[in-house]
Amino acid sequence: MPRRLGQHFLRAPSVERLLRVIAPRSDEVFLEIGPGAGALTLPLAARAARVVAVEIDGALAQRLRASAPANVEIVTADAVEADLRALVPAGGRLVGNLPYYVSSPLLRRFLELRERVRDVHVMLQEEVARRIASPPGSKEYGILSVMYGAWANVDVPLTFPPGAFAPPPRVSSAVLRARFLHPPPVPVRDPAALETLLHRAFRHRRKTLENNLEDSYANLKQHLRLLNIEGSRRPETLSVVEFAKLAEMLARDV
Ligand code: SAM
Repeated sequence: MPRRLGQHFLRAPSVERLLRVIAPRSDEVFLEIGPGAGALTLPLAARAARVVAVEIDGALAQRLRASAPANVEIVTADAVEADLRALVPAGGRLVGNLPYYVSSPLLRRFLELRERVRDVHVMLQEEVARRIASPPGSKEYGILSVMYGAWANVDVPLTFPPGAFAPPPRVSSAVLRARFLHPPPVPVRDPAALETLLHRAFRHRRKTLENNLEDSYANLKQHLRLLNIEGSRRPETLSVVEFAKLAEMLARDV
């Protein structure tokens, strides 16, 4: 079993706990990342209209394809690279017990689907799930917390010990739930500018906002003053609204 693909399969009682939180309806279409042997895919397909699942491991995909019902489509692909938009209809939902080694790039890709999917329920390393759901001011608050906070309601409804999986991973796991909001809670006109600002602002967490940003933005001090944001603050103390407003002002300058 190629452990390097993050293959830790959910045991049946854990699948039931997860399904209770997802609460699939019979008219819903799901995009699943990493179906593996189908532990989640098959019970989901029994309750939903359709499941499209993206699996990188060709042998697993082939085996699942052979045993799955007609409302399941298994796509053999790398979910980090695949055109996920093309695989899910508008109003669909996204689920998965994610391979932890690629959880960060996958979480970034899921944000691209915010206009397309209603919500996201994904199993992650607990530490990663908590980081994304953490509020400003906490040690864990970072780039993905701000990005998800700008477009979704985020929480961690379930945690799972290593023994919930076979073979058990070394870390505890948790489900991150992100429900995309329309309109989003914070208007972000240029998501790319916000992401660039966040990468710069969080480059050195122990430095102040001003120290992290002064080389990148000429009129930084003036904008911070207009927004009433002290340059001496640490990046993790800024709210999603403050980051969004700052990104918008700075983008006007370039
Ligand atoms: N959903 C199954 C379960 O809960 O039992 C398997 C979950 S396992 C944690 C992660 C799955 O993702 C594995 O089947 C693995 O082969 C697959 N996988 C790993 N990297 C992937 C990638 N880049 N794109 C798509 N699937 C991937």
